[in-house]
Amino acid sequence: MIAYDTSGKSYSLTETNLGGGEGKLYAVDNNPELYAKIFKSEKRTKGREAKILEWEKMLTENDLNQNFCRQIVVPQKCLYAQTTSQNTQTFVGYLMEKQTSFRTLKNTYLAKDFDYMQKVWTARNLCILTNRVHSLEREIIIGDYNADNIAIFPSTSTAKFIDVDSFQLVINRNGRRILCPCTVGVPEFMAPEISRRLKKEKSDLEHVDQGPDDPIFNKYTDLYSMAYHVFALLMNGSSPFASMPNMEELSQHPSRNVSSIDIDQFHAAEKGEFVFARHYIFKKAPNYAPKYGILSRKLQKLFERAFIDGAKDSTARPDSLEFYDALTEYLDSLEDRKCGHYMPSNYTGACEWCRINNLKY
Ligand SMILES: [Zn+2]
Repeated sequence: MIAYDTSGKSYSLTETNLGGGEGKLYAVDNNPELYAKIFKSEKRTKGREAKILEWEKMLTENDLNQNFCRQIVVPQKCLYAQTTSQNTQTFVGYLMEKQTSFRTLKNTYLAKDFDYMQKVWTARNLCILTNRVHSLEREIIIGDYNADNIAIFPSTSTAKFIDVDSFQLVINRNGRRILCPCTVGVPEFMAPEISRRLKKEKSDLEHVDQGPDDPIFNKYTDLYSMAYHVFALLMNGSSPFASMPNMEELSQHPSRNVSSIDIDQFHAAEKGEFVFARHYIFKKAPNYAPKYGILSRKLQKLFERAFIDGAKDSTARPDSLEFYDALTEYLDSLEDRKCGHYMPSNYTGACEWCRINNLKY
């Protein structure tokens, strides 16, 4: 297909087999460093177009610094296609820098070729990435901070956001602030107050009533997702709200049975039931996760603020710099044991990675 940017320059595009629920990626002839994302026809909305045009404007006006652009794959140019009736053009997608040789964050949680040191390093890089977005003077929110939207480059463990058209922006038009919302999200990675509000208003992310002063995604919902990913990287891919029935406790209460134990992670997230740090009768942390005690006391406190205090008060969640500092100290404390696994040097127990490798499922 042929597409045009706002200046009328044409691009010849060839479909690839890459893409997701919103659209497909196309190779750009004579521009091997670029990809075009072409939205499905029902996703070619005015809202998406306004957002991409704003990214294009921020790039031309140098509102985004180099470090930001190095780690956030921003939409570069809005693309249009000529319709059958001549002289009219419709919005179809955008151009962005092509990324290669990465794995998604989701595939990094459990990657066997990444040792614990590299996973902690990756977690620290996520904090840098989150800080890059939030420290810009523009009101930019990640929103759909999901593990498939983040590329991890194995050679350096650095992280980049790759599906940036979903980010939430606030546009200034003649002194008026207009919200360009994020309308997608993965429930697992979303802060509990989001599902609470959607339930209360009987709405969804596409239709919820929101404005620049009360957007559904904000800095604190981003910090929830960041804490979730840091936890999963450090804890062998476990969700902070994963749990399993505690059979020993159940055996002492013959009137109860396994199926009556609520191990639903969404319920736990809403109630702030963080089973790693507090005891809840009949439940325990999953055995594929290392013991919570391998984490430093500083990290434990941050996770408790993120997942227990944060369930009631989103502002209690630690920011990216607090996590960055705690992870830096934790990295310094890691040493490799005779078995070849990294464990904190002050942890006196047996190697947790050996225990997990010997689990029989
Ligand atoms: Zn070991």
